[in-house]
Amino acid sequence: MGWKNFSALIIILFANGYNIGKGVHTMATVNSVLGPIDTDKLGFTLMHEHLMVSSAGIPQVYDRLLGDDYIERIVQGLKKAKASGIDTIVDATTFDLGRDVTMMAEVSRRSGVNIIAVTGWWLELPRFLNGLSADQFADLFTREIEEGIAGTSNKAGLLKAASDIEGVSPAEEQILRGVARAYRRTGVPIMLHSYSPGQVGRQQIAILREEAVDLRHVKLDHSNDTTDVEYLTWILEQGCYLGMDRYPGRITSSQARTRTMKALIDAGWAHRLLPSHDYSLLWLRLEGLTQNSPMSQEEREKRNPHGYLYIKKVVFPQLKKLGVPEAVLNQLCIDGPRNFFEGK
Ligand SMILES: [Zn+2]
Repeated sequence: MGWKNFSALIIILFANGYNIGKGVHTMATVNSVLGPIDTDKLGFTLMHEHLMVSSAGIPQVYDRLLGDDYIERIVQGLKKAKASGIDTIVDATTFDLGRDVTMMAEVSRRSGVNIIAVTGWWLELPRFLNGLSADQFADLFTREIEEGIAGTSNKAGLLKAASDIEGVSPAEEQILRGVARAYRRTGVPIMLHSYSPGQVGRQQIAILREEAVDLRHVKLDHSNDTTDVEYLTWILEQGCYLGMDRYPGRITSSQARTRTMKALIDAGWAHRLLPSHDYSLLWLRLEGLTQNSPMSQEEREKRNPHGYLYIKKVVFPQLKKLGVPEAVLNQLCIDGPRNFFEGK
């Protein structure tokens, strides 16, 4: 056999081996801030939380507003969650909510909780970004998934777009289309901040359909701000997941949220429901509260003294009392998140 034939044979063997390998291993991974994790290692996962919430640039420039030892306080909060069985947290904090991926990597390393960072945008678009195109946004978001965030190698594992009570604004539409296009390039799934009492998800889904997004890779967040089972069922029928991710929440009571979840479980949708709290361990210290100020940290802790553990301590026992079997409860926070990241 000549050298040419021999190398051709090697190439064929290599190519075959590669294909066979690909066929056997359908293992999926998700980017955590410390690197890729196999989806079957995610464990008990909360799909929409925050480590801290502020505004773009605050942790990097005005970190004194976060108080002394704030990183230590976040680590303690995470260690407590880990000790009670929380393995993974999606930190839904985008750039405009004061994301700090260096802090996220440090607290993940120190607490042992996997942290998944998001790219995309929430509702705070600065004036001079009005006018960026969908493709410009897509470039920014893709880079944070493929290369890393803010000059680090810590990558995002999820895309996020947002609209609220006023529906999808023209600027938010550019971001949403940018998120869709970054999804098409990377395959990373999408979470949508939505206003479920106003059925804003219908508009968001229509735009994602125009961008040819596979809706099995999309979750509609804050879906338990409504008790309208008919609307929620419509979203599920489109293929999306529901983020049942405000607990205890406001306006709609915690009990009403749980009854809505039970109704959807009874209708056979347990595999598409993702419970979480939208809780933040840390907020800015506000010493000049006015009518327009967000709730103080004290008020928040009074409303939810269990933090990331409210679902385990309050919601799951209630669901159990309503007749939901233990196996289904596990499905909600273990199998559901894994299936979401695997695109099932
Ligand atoms: Zn949130």
